[in-house]
Amino acid sequence: MGDVPDAREELDRLGRALRAQLVELITDLTPGSDLGLLFLDDPTVADWHDPLRHHYAALFRGERPASVGAADLTSRAAALLDSAGWQVTASQDGDGPRRWSVLTGRHDFGSIEIRVAHHISAVMFSGQTPALALRTPEEFTWPEPLRTPETLTPGYLLCYECDGLGACPGCGGRGWWPDQVHGRTNCRECRRQRVCAICRGAGQLAASLLSPHQRRYYSGSG
Ligand SMILES: [Zn+2]
Ligand SMILES: [Zn+2]
Repeated sequence: MGDVPDAREELDRLGRALRAQLVELITDLTPGSDLGLLFLDDPTVADWHDPLRHHYAALFRGERPASVGAADLTSRAAALLDSAGWQVTASQDGDGPRRWSVLTGRHDFGSIEIRVAHHISAVMFSGQTPALALRTPEEFTWPEPLRTPETLTPGYLLCYECDGLGACPGCGGRGWWPDQVHGRTNCRECRRQRVCAICRGAGQLAASLLSPHQRRYYSGSG
């Protein structure tokens, strides 16, 4: 496991290019927008399959100026994207007066979607960079037990649930399992708590504090 050389720099470069393009579009099409609300600060996980792939993604709502019709704004947006080298596809979402005009633009540094409402002033901008793997695939190694019969605190017993592991015995402390469809699925034993639900990560239980129910797990061992 390790960093993929230059992947983060490349992703940051894509993120900056996408941000610059979004700022240009928003400033031109919905003037007066508060660009402080355009969040493109940190890459997020786009694909949870190992190795995780990250991208920069943003969603921004602008307001169409009262003097500009939705159709005109859509044409203007298409022209701006086209002149900046984006491959633009136009479509429509819904029918009649409540429809949205939708433009999808593709470029080496990502994709942008602009949705222009005809019945309200909303103009929705969304953009995302391609998703890159920042780290090489992780080889998971099952953790060593936190407690063994030799390292028990006096007066304590190995946790009957995890046998001293401390980490969740269902997932080994990752909190998730690989999942073919979603990449990851939450561990059903610890529900992402990562530690054993019985000893809460200690690997051992105080003999004097065991409930009668818990004592039954140790019957036979003294
Ligand atoms: Zn335990
Ligand atoms: Zn678990």
